[in-house]
Amino acid sequence: MDRVSAPVDTRITRPRLATAWLGGCSGCHMSFLDLDERLIDLLARADLVYSPFIDIKEFPEAVDITLVEGAVANEDHLRNIQLIRQRTRILVSFGDCAVTGNVTALRNFFSVEDVLTRAYRDSAIVNGVPHSPHLLDRVLRIHDVVTVDHFLPGCPPSADVIYRFLEDLLAGREPALQERKFGS
Ligand code: SF4
Repeated sequence: MDRVSAPVDTRITRPRLATAWLGGCSGCHMSFLDLDERLIDLLARADLVYSPFIDIKEFPEAVDITLVEGAVANEDHLRNIQLIRQRTRILVSFGDCAVTGNVTALRNFFSVEDVLTRAYRDSAIVNGVPHSPHLLDRVLRIHDVVTVDHFLPGCPPSADVIYRFLEDLLAGREPALQERKFGS
């Protein structure tokens, strides 16, 4: 599968920040909320233009930094991450599910048919009709699908780690916490 790459540099004076949620438990976003009063400081320095925290339906154009939680587990995730990559200058693989597959990828030990039957067909029927996106054959890490600029591992990464990481990125510095390299 060809990996989608970053758009050309569209740097603007006030960074446009986004967070997105694919196949994860939302724990990484809960950790982001644990920034507490530091959220005010962060949002004084960047515009939050897309996130599960705000009511924006369509991922916007020209985003400077996007944190992506979760692995790529179904066709909706696949479409979303490719769109996010096309519209994001710096894409961050946010948390262990995004970086390694982690909990989300446990279903790779089972057949898609068995998972569908147990978790979807038997339990997600709406008005007698199956109501869920098609599962991919295997759960994929973000960097299996698109080019990733930075990795922010942790399950979830702590609020302190998230804050220091975003401080560096917003200041135009290389984040200092990349002790481990992922990707191939
Ligand atoms: Fe949840 Fe951990 Fe995955 Fe984050 S890395 S989405 S906290 S399971």
